[in-house]
Amino acid sequence: MKEKTIIDRIMDNISVCDNGCWEWQGNKTRNGYGRIHYEGRKQFVHRIMTPGKPTEEEPYSLHSCDNPACCRPEHLSWGNNSRNTKEKRDRLGTHASQKITREDAYKIKFLEKGLQREIADRYGISQMQVSLIRAGGTWRDLEYGEYK
Ligand SMILES: [Zn+2]
Repeated sequence: MKEKTIIDRIMDNISVCDNGCWEWQGNKTRNGYGRIHYEGRKQFVHRIMTPGKPTEEEPYSLHSCDNPACCRPEHLSWGNNSRNTKEKRDRLGTHASQKITREDAYKIKFLEKGLQREIADRYGISQMQVSLIRAGGTWRDLEYGEYK
């Protein structure tokens, strides 16, 4: 049996809300942030699910939905306390790399072979995005046979 990835473990423990948030159902901090034991320590679920990596300039995982328990990658981004962060990021187009077409998502989900990292490179997205597409976390409504 294939060992569960951290993404699988998280996806097993969320509930999808009407507003699109993925609310963590497991252990939470007093402030409402989800926590999970991973790589030998307790980590914040939303930080694991935030696309990309934190940097010195953008060390915090920010919720666009203001819901601390939410761990939906589309609602999360790295930033800092500056109010300009979001605008700056939009200007620089950091998020453009995460945008793929429905057909690309289909290929990634059903047709592509090889390592997730290689597939991610091929489409210019993160390995996390590939993993999520395959786990049904994003592009959930894709059905086999939709494209040839
Ligand atoms: Zn949310």
